Amino acid sequence: MKKLVMYTLLAFSFSSLNGCYWENFSKTEKVEPLRLTAPNSIETLIDEVRSATEKGLRIRMTGSGHSHSDVAITEDILLRPIQLIDVLEIDRQRLYDPEETQLVRVESGITIRKLNSYLDSQGLALPNMGGYDGQTIVGATATGTHGSGLQHGPMSSQIISLQIVIDDGRVLQIEPSDGITNPDNFPGILEENADIGVELIQNDSLFNAAKISIGSMGIVYSVVLKTDKKFWLEEIRTLSSWEEVKAPDGFLDRLIHGLPLDDGDVQPEYYELQYNPYKVGGERSMLITKRYKSYESLPIDVDRGQPGTSQLSGLITLLEKPLIWIVDNFQFIAPILVEQSLKSQADDSYKNVSYKIFNIGIVNHTDAYAMEMGFDLSESIAAIERSFELGEQLKEDGIVHSAPVSIRFVKAADELIAMQQGRDTMILEYIMINGIKGDRELFDTYAQTLMEEFHARPHWGLDFKLLQGSEWASILFPEWEQWVQHYETMNPNGTFDGWVTDRLDISMNPR
Ligand SMILES: Cc1cc2nc3c(=O)[nH]c(=O)nc-3n(C[C@H](O)[C@H](O)[C@H](O)COP(=O)(O)OP(=O)(O)OC[C@H]3O[C@@H](n4cnc5c(N)ncnc54)[C@H](O)[C@@H]3O)c2cc1C
Repeated sequence: MKKLVMYTLLAFSFSSLNGCYWENFSKTEKVEPLRLTAPNSIETLIDEVRSATEKGLRIRMTGSGHSHSDVAITEDILLRPIQLIDVLEIDRQRLYDPEETQLVRVESGITIRKLNSYLDSQGLALPNMGGYDGQTIVGATATGTHGSGLQHGPMSSQIISLQIVIDDGRVLQIEPSDGITNPDNFPGILEENADIGVELIQNDSLFNAAKISIGSMGIVYSVVLKTDKKFWLEEIRTLSSWEEVKAPDGFLDRLIHGLPLDDGDVQPEYYELQYNPYKVGGERSMLITKRYKSYESLPIDVDRGQPGTSQLSGLITLLEKPLIWIVDNFQFIAPILVEQSLKSQADDSYKNVSYKIFNIGIVNHTDAYAMEMGFDLSESIAAIERSFELGEQLKEDGIVHSAPVSIRFVKAADELIAMQQGRDTMILEYIMINGIKGDRELFDTYAQTLMEEFHARPHWGLDFKLLQGSEWASILFPEWEQWVQHYETMNPNGTFDGWVTDRLDISMNPR
């Protein structure tokens, strides 16, 4: 089976002059690397890395290619993860607590989709995830992919141990200083192959650098995740207005001040907002989504939103080209379209197993792309109102939104270059159908302005190369220098340099 996948990959890849071609999901980045290959074991992965280092070449691993930015790319050797997708055994003798039942060890290329169905079969679940499941687990975590709800950090916080191949082919197992592995019981070999040595390093700083590595510290072979028990969610989506949401005792006011979001004992663990960038009928609509967790099974609902919402989303996906033409030529329609999109999602109860609620569904297949900026939670109201102003200003310049803006909330993270590093974070996500007039200008205007005015941080996968050089990176990410030091130690020969490190001006062997 693994061979079949590889031949299919090669068939897709040999379409350019030098034989190899790779492009990301949103087709914003493409490359013709010297070599494009999919290692099918730790042994071949080690061989690839060692050989690249010996030849003075760069090597990186992509995930599923769902980052719009250049974060996965090198023009030398590009590894695909599609044959490193298995669930692995945990050697419990190595652990302080061999009885721990919620640990799951997987190869780095497993998709979140496959992982979810495995976890479900084991009565387990990811504690949180983003709105999509096509990414690989390490592709997602390496850029700081997140869901929403202030009890949860980005998905990288679910990793508690990782095994990574560094440039000389050695395998390191990196954990925090209070990691799960008991060094006294650690045999120093890989679980799957006793001939492969593994060096255990329990160091908080390195661990927090390697989890969000933007692919630049080595090739991750496997991770151990701390999962939750299987749970269900009830999702409630209510239409509201900005005035209500920001009012004293409103949703945002309560959230910022750490107050219960609902009156009574039952609280939503997950929640997010969406807004219409334009006022309709004098009001700016907001959609409040709250998700209530249950470890008891809930009856499964067939569809979310108003009757026909999925069909409508499907239709938008099918009709995106005519829709672009309509929005470009009749811009007055944009506020109404966005309003309709919010209204159609309102729902007084939609229940399902957790990961089917987190996944926002068919809209993920629209030919659209998104850009995200993260703010200190305490600045939420000012940042959102500034974002309204920018939306109006862009509209006057003839550039309109084609989708609601979403607002998500993530707990402060320890990962050194996480968007959420050191601060509870409010994240604005701007979504545009690919090809709408001025889409890039819209993204750039928001990103540049909000970075300069609020020190908002870009998502490493959902930005359009906002950061050029290290100046802004070191302003935005207080632990930037510490991350760069680890990057230099892990990558002394520039083996894991890539387009992103060239752009950030930190490559060991710049090109
Ligand atoms: C439809 C869609 C929905 C999305 N939804 C969300 C969302 O809800 N929340 C959110 O935060 N983001 C979201 N994103 C962004 C997405 O989660 C990130 O861009 C993520 O990084 C993509 O994962 P990937 O598997 O495609 O990895 P890629 O984009 O291919 O790679 C990402 C990074 O991981 C590195 N990498 C991958 N595997 C390895 C490995 N084994 N070892 C070392 N480095 C590795 C790559 O080198 C690269 O630096 C979405 C994107 C799309 C297109």
